[in-house]
Amino acid sequence: MNRVPRTVLVPSIALNDGHAIPQLGFGVFQIDPEDTAEAVSEALEVGYRQIDTAQMYRNEEGVGEAVRACGVDRADVFVTSKLDNRFHRPADARRAFDATLSALGFEYVDLFLIHWPLPTLYDGDFVSTWNTLQEFHQDGRARSIGVSNFQVEHLRRLGAECDVMPAVNQVELHPYLLNRDVHAYDQAHGIATQAWSPIAQGIVLGDPVITAIADRLGRSPAQVVLRWQIQHGNIVFPKSRTPARIRENFELFDFQLGSRDVDAIDALDRGEAGRTGPNPDTMANLPD
Ligand code: NDP
Repeated sequence: MNRVPRTVLVPSIALNDGHAIPQLGFGVFQIDPEDTAEAVSEALEVGYRQIDTAQMYRNEEGVGEAVRACGVDRADVFVTSKLDNRFHRPADARRAFDATLSALGFEYVDLFLIHWPLPTLYDGDFVSTWNTLQEFHQDGRARSIGVSNFQVEHLRRLGAECDVMPAVNQVELHPYLLNRDVHAYDQAHGIATQAWSPIAQGIVLGDPVITAIADRLGRSPAQVVLRWQIQHGNIVFPKSRTPARIRENFELFDFQLGSRDVDAIDALDRGEAGRTGPNPDTMANLPD
């Protein structure tokens, strides 16, 4: 297997704390715990070097198992996890972070995020949670720290009340939800934007604008949408349980979209109507 030449094709995005993240990775949301090691092993073999998991996905063990077994140096694989919504209070967050490291079997995680701001829970106090994540960064067990699903007002509050800004903000972002305000705020404040559900869980792939571009370029609709994400500078980690799609989603660096195609995909934005997941302002679900 010839790993190195394929892997170096993936650009890195510099983070505001001096670290860097591969722009393309592999997401494991909704992959069963018992299937996760196999799926992540497949992705690592294809050349992915960034894996996105979360405490709430209940599959960190499988991610750790695959990364530890793959024969690539730990330092060359970038692993992200996220705090369970149940554990925002500082003492709970500390325990939960310890549990993440032991589930992964790692001494450190590359990136640890607050999964949801939950502004209607915990007296709206995501600031204490953010300050707790800074402890993990300071003691070196989280190389980078960030947030997920933070809206502009949530980021503003961190800016006003905290010394350190997140390295990344991971939000729903795809052709039907460009999330323009959040993306612009991230960009203006040195926060890298990670696009979750980068192909909208497949919903956008039948859009005639996208299929027409795909047909013209001889690419798949998923490759066109992921390439659009890459050209916008977004960090992506499409999920797939299908080996052929895992390979397909990695083949993004031998073609480009012209500006007219980028503009045509941008024009598919439906604003809030394009959102497929919960609205972060009201999302208050705690796992069972
Ligand atoms: P994606 O946009 O990555 O879409 C995944 C779906 O698309 C699966 O049903 C998959 O099917 C299908 N698919 C994948 N590749 C192709 C392809 N080439 N052609 C056709 N269909 C394809 O959705 P996710 O919601 O999984 O988002 C990606 C990652 O983002 C997650 O895994 C997770 O890591 C992260 N995320 C974070 C959230 C947060 O709140 N921070 C919320 C949601 C996701 P199949 O598996 O059957 O191949």
